Amino acid sequence: MSDNYDVIVIGAGPAGYVAAIRAAQLGLKTACIEKWQNAEGKGVNGGTCLNVGCIPSKALLDSSYKYHETKTDLASHGINTGDVALDVDAMINRKGKIVKQLTDGIAGLFKSNGVTSLFGSGKLLAGRQVEYTDHNGKTTVLAAGNVIIATGSQPIDIPVAPVNGDTIIDSTGALEITAAPKRLGVIGAGVIGLELGSVWNRVGSKVVLLEAMDDFLAMMDQQIAKEAKKIYTKQGLDIRLSCRVTGSEVKGNEVIVTYQDSNGNEAQETFDKLIVCVGRRPYTEGLLAADSGVNLDERGFIFVNDQCATNAPGVWAVGDVVRGPMLAHKGSEEGVMVAERIAGQKTQMNYDIIPNVIYTHPEIASVGKTEEQLKQAGESYNVGIFPFIASGRAMAANETDGMVKMIADATTDRILGCHIVGPSAADLVQQVAIAMEFGSSAEDIGMTVFGHPTLSEAVHEAALAVNGHAIHIPNRKKRK
Ligand code: FAD
Ligand code: AMP
Repeated sequence: MSDNYDVIVIGAGPAGYVAAIRAAQLGLKTACIEKWQNAEGKGVNGGTCLNVGCIPSKALLDSSYKYHETKTDLASHGINTGDVALDVDAMINRKGKIVKQLTDGIAGLFKSNGVTSLFGSGKLLAGRQVEYTDHNGKTTVLAAGNVIIATGSQPIDIPVAPVNGDTIIDSTGALEITAAPKRLGVIGAGVIGLELGSVWNRVGSKVVLLEAMDDFLAMMDQQIAKEAKKIYTKQGLDIRLSCRVTGSEVKGNEVIVTYQDSNGNEAQETFDKLIVCVGRRPYTEGLLAADSGVNLDERGFIFVNDQCATNAPGVWAVGDVVRGPMLAHKGSEEGVMVAERIAGQKTQMNYDIIPNVIYTHPEIASVGKTEEQLKQAGESYNVGIFPFIASGRAMAANETDGMVKMIADATTDRILGCHIVGPSAADLVQQVAIAMEFGSSAEDIGMTVFGHPTLSEAVHEAALAVNGHAIHIPNRKKRK
């Protein structure tokens, strides 16, 4: 092994492994260091996303949804299934196989692209040098033309509910539950709390989500958030807003949670398991030597500019460890941008158009500005809404909950945002993201021919509704 590289990437999550592959594609001699080990002590690429994040959570969401649908919805299609049982172990094992297949896949991609994969931990020294310590404790100092930090994030632990790996767990532990707890508490009704709460709600747990904020999904368009809350409540999720957890006590197999309720009174709830989902923090432990030259911001993220360059020349940082939404695809695009900039290209990713999805059923997906953001900025805009109840395809699929909301500039008609709660929202919103990337107006989408019957027609109709031209619902604004 030569100790000099054009690029060394620290961290092989979706930000780091994508950066490494793109750098290697561009002809740069690249190594990627990853410290993750599986239960057998073997090094594993893929980071949070593949090991304990996006992929395993979606595997459990899909399995639990199929079970729930079989039990509650198939009869309406005339399908009688008799008794339906769920083997939770099999569900968890299936998830494990998917994780293994995908993480092994990265090793294959590294090989085919010529990325040197190093298992162990990396520490940034001064002058673009990296101290690499392998899993046997052997240390080597590597030199690089450029270093890309992609060390990701970790769940936030709160002293009022310390994770013990048994009754009190974090999102990682929640992916390994082996039997549906009767009473499941979730602290934090954010994206991860809602997804994990949904899995176990479908499987039969009574799920209570305690959320400190007064608004549900405060960062989302509030019309969509309110609609989503109604749907989730109908599904049995008990979402309690303005409820801040102040303490917890483990007693045998139970955990008693104390919280301040929405009236400011102290309240208690007893659970068989408690999942702490109060957010994630940037992961920089043991990463930076005192003289590395890399600065952190006031919240502990690595400080970077719009092109992901840190304060230290030739050192970049991407993904969850830097500002911006903690989303796998945001980190991956930053990884591509940085690799291409190192190779001399002028790539700039567009931070204004990053889709955001919550994989409940139905999904919530959004891109661009919310109505609240536009109001606050004093912008004038038009809104078009199309409810799925008016979609033939949604009706055929028994998926009529939710709506598409499109927002466009009042003067130019340029699309400013799209917010969806409804079937396949994640895929539908992506169509609008592409349109936005090309600077489309609502009229452009309105003039596009959409296949029938598709769920996409709801996007088409919402775009038409922006200018009062929807066909399959009465228009709020009637225009010629
Ligand atoms: P990570 O994926 O955290 O990877 C960082 C890697 O760096 C890790 O493997 C770590 O071991 C390694 N590392 C850290 N320090 C060192 C060091 N010193 N030396 C060597 N290696 C080091 N996002 C979505 O977009 N969609 C989703 O559906 C979604 N679902 C999620 C569900 C859950 C339950 C969770 C927890 C997260 C989810 N996320 C989702 C968020 C997503 O997982 C993260 O945004 C993404 O993984 C961040 O990528 P990253 O590469 O920046 O960091
Ligand atoms: P997210 O940032 O999407 O992962 O969501 C985390 C959520 O946890 C946020 O909405 C926080 O308001 C919420 N939260 C943080 N601390 C507490 C607490 N002590 N009690 C209840 N909710 C909390």
